Amino acid sequence: MKLVLATSNKGKVREIKALCEDYEVIPYSELIDEFEIVEDGDTFKENALIKARAVFKALDDEDVVVMADDSGISVDILDGEPGIYSARYAGQEADDKDNLYKLMDSIKEKRVNSSPAHYTAAIALVTKNSEYCVHGWMYGDAQTSACGNGGFGYDPMFVPIGYDKTLGELDDEIKKKLSHRSKALSLIKKIIKIL
Ligand code: IMP
Repeated sequence: MKLVLATSNKGKVREIKALCEDYEVIPYSELIDEFEIVEDGDTFKENALIKARAVFKALDDEDVVVMADDSGISVDILDGEPGIYSARYAGQEADDKDNLYKLMDSIKEKRVNSSPAHYTAAIALVTKNSEYCVHGWMYGDAQTSACGNGGFGYDPMFVPIGYDKTLGELDDEIKKKLSHRSKALSLIKKIIKIL
């Protein structure tokens, strides 16, 4: 089955491809021109569905199955920030590095070196006659220093529970087992099997 991904975020595409080896996974930007999708939902679920529906409509192909990932990090000492705003925490034009440094600064402003935090992934699936959405979570600590170059986004500052290194330092295989995305994908794969 051909699964079209409603994202062109390189980190997400790489991880989703590695976790869905049984399927042909194609970022939508390889099929049509990329276009802006306004993610104005109040939850990860709403935003994942907004993205999957927008790409399904734009592809105009009833046989396609579109999958979208909306994800982010929530930090306890910041009352759950940045949450659904993780991609634009340091501003609309911010890149992963800007967001990472802004989040470390926000935690430092609270005069602590780390805070409990978690990642959430909502994965939505849209087909011609059905819509689904599942979630996965990964818990750990967000720290105020960045270590390692692995993963993407906030990974260099995130230490998963049970480890003493960041996801930037840990092997990709460990993130593959633990991550919010892998947990959500293992649920969505059960749904894909019965489509
Ligand atoms: P989205 O494309 O609106 O879902 O934005 C996701 C944001 O959350 C991006 O800024 C990512 O950097 C961040 N994010 C989501 N998942 C991960 C992850 O697995 N590691 C690091 N950052 C992540």
